[in-house]
Amino acid sequence: MKNIFCIGIGLIGGSFAIDIKNQNPEAIIHGISRKDETLNKALELQLIDKKATLDDLENADLVIISIPVDATVKLLPTVLDKISDNTLVIDAGSTKEAICKVVEHHKRRRNFLACHPIAGTENSGPTAAISGLYKGKTNIICEVEKTTFKLQEQALALFNAIGMRIRYMDAKSHDKHIAYVSHLSHISSFMLGKTVLEKEKNEKDIFDMAGSGFASTVRLAKSSPAMWTPIFKQNKDNVIETLEEYINNLQQFKALMQKDNFSEIFNEMENTNYIKQILNGIK
Ligand code: NAP
Repeated sequence: MKNIFCIGIGLIGGSFAIDIKNQNPEAIIHGISRKDETLNKALELQLIDKKATLDDLENADLVIISIPVDATVKLLPTVLDKISDNTLVIDAGSTKEAICKVVEHHKRRRNFLACHPIAGTENSGPTAAISGLYKGKTNIICEVEKTTFKLQEQALALFNAIGMRIRYMDAKSHDKHIAYVSHLSHISSFMLGKTVLEKEKNEKDIFDMAGSGFASTVRLAKSSPAMWTPIFKQNKDNVIETLEEYINNLQQFKALMQKDNFSEIFNEMENTNYIKQILNGIK
């Protein structure tokens, strides 16, 4: 694949651009973004070789869409309108149902592969792009049967070359499961950050006492609200369900504290230590 177009050249798109170029130095990476300053930064960082516009997409072998999920829903049909019959289009959105739905009847649906790379950091924009972000990480592919076999093969070769593992899922299950392991963690981190920030207004030196446990638990609260708000909007029902279960657990924990039931608190934590085995297994 020679002409590769990255629509969105922040953390996710920029990191794809770096790894693809490393694997395939003769590829030309074309960048498309809303803001010229973002493209200039991407050029300066050598994430892209050239600036481009949507009208250049007819020359694309591969298009990677890595913009907020609401913007992807709006733009994806136009991208499919503009490509040639042999172009592969992939997205990286953190939700999959609305994105798959908007192109279900598009005449070029078979050119599109719905993906969600389970890789990232709390940083955003072109300066956040890093080499090797995807190595050893899982890429969830949804509705694979709706993509032409030849283009599936090209996508798998690319993901394989940059070190990704593949999981297949339907879009509905993806959105339900990802609400627990990603979306809820972000809300929990944002709200923990908020709770401590509010306390800090009155007690100025509270952050002097913050240790690495606090830093690692609130790390996700540094994430971009512009990226996360559309995710919560698109996955509202699943996210509300996870929040209800989480709030329930917090309330039970508080009730145990109020009743001085520390043996049950010990049990709750000991049972949850099982997460160590799970996390060791997925490293
Ligand atoms: P990012 O670093 O903030 O980059 C976003 C890019 O999208 C920028 O190039 C920005 O360009 C462009 N953009 C922002 N708002 C836009 C809009 N309304 N319309 C068109 N373009 C817009 O974000 P990211 O972390 O790379 O995330 C990109 C996608 O990957 C999202 O769909 C996200 O759900 C998904 N994803 C993220 C992670 C993660 O951990 N961050 C992990 C997996 C998947 P301008 O500066 O020109 O606006």
